[in-house]
Amino acid sequence: MFDLKGRIAVVTGGNGGIGLGMARGLARAGAHVVIAARNTEKSAAAVRELERAGGQGSAVNVDVADEGSVTRLMDSVKTRHGRLDVLINNAGINIRKPVHELSLAEWRQVIDTNLTSAYLCCHAAYPLFKRGGRGKVINIGSMMSIFGASFAPAYAASKGGIVQLTKATAVAWATDNIQVNAVLPGWIDTELTQNARKQVKGLHESVLARTPAGRWGTIDDMEGIAVFLASPASDFVTGTAIPVDGGYAIKG
Ligand code: NDP
Repeated sequence: MFDLKGRIAVVTGGNGGIGLGMARGLARAGAHVVIAARNTEKSAAAVRELERAGGQGSAVNVDVADEGSVTRLMDSVKTRHGRLDVLINNAGINIRKPVHELSLAEWRQVIDTNLTSAYLCCHAAYPLFKRGGRGKVINIGSMMSIFGASFAPAYAASKGGIVQLTKATAVAWATDNIQVNAVLPGWIDTELTQNARKQVKGLHESVLARTPAGRWGTIDDMEGIAVFLASPASDFVTGTAIPVDGGYAIKG
């Protein structure tokens, strides 16, 4: 039920953080994982990590905010593998400023990287899913898909948008046997949140105080949900947004 042998997966931003955790889960379950990100050294190290974990991977240099780059990614998947089974839209950034300080260029950079990228990847992946007769899309949202934060206007807009894009795509593709779901991570220890902790005073402590599990998440915590949503175990699950957050979202 959770076997991914022979499956081809693309993980955007899979060379570090949450993307790498999810890529490792998929690779351990038998998938070949294509790491799609910009930093080639980091991507090569991530592929070595997948191999150390007993899996298989390869890397493609991609800027997910660039339409031509995403088209070249899907073309290379088609040429090398002839198929695509799983797409994880994970690449993301944040620029932490309140709305009155955020420039239009910064707004666009965050929306393009976090939201337009997911549209571009889904759009380009569809013919490959259709060809194989099935597909799994996992879009990465955030607690900011639900909550507001003064320092994340574009980020929260992009992550709210990810949930609605997930629902629209899930409905559109349901009869094509393509399931589309979102994962809303809680606070996970990665480069992104290490920077956040430097920039937002008291963040580390407030996350600990609000998270019922009493700890920050690790990238290992992201492996299981990726395998579930990529595997036949979730064939009747579509359009959902699943928090993986140690209970953060349900704390009163
Ligand atoms: P990291 O900064 O560790 O990883 C972000 C990844 O995105 C990097 O691998 C980076 O690779 C890639 N990336 C960024 N911009 C681009 C681009 N234009 N094209 C291709 N790849 C890009 O962050 P996290 O692992 O923490 O975050 C991953 C996702 O999870 C993001 O969408 C984030 O919003 C979300 N998230 C994170 C949470 C957390 O607590 N950590 C909580 C909720 C959501 P490279 O630089 O090589 O391109």
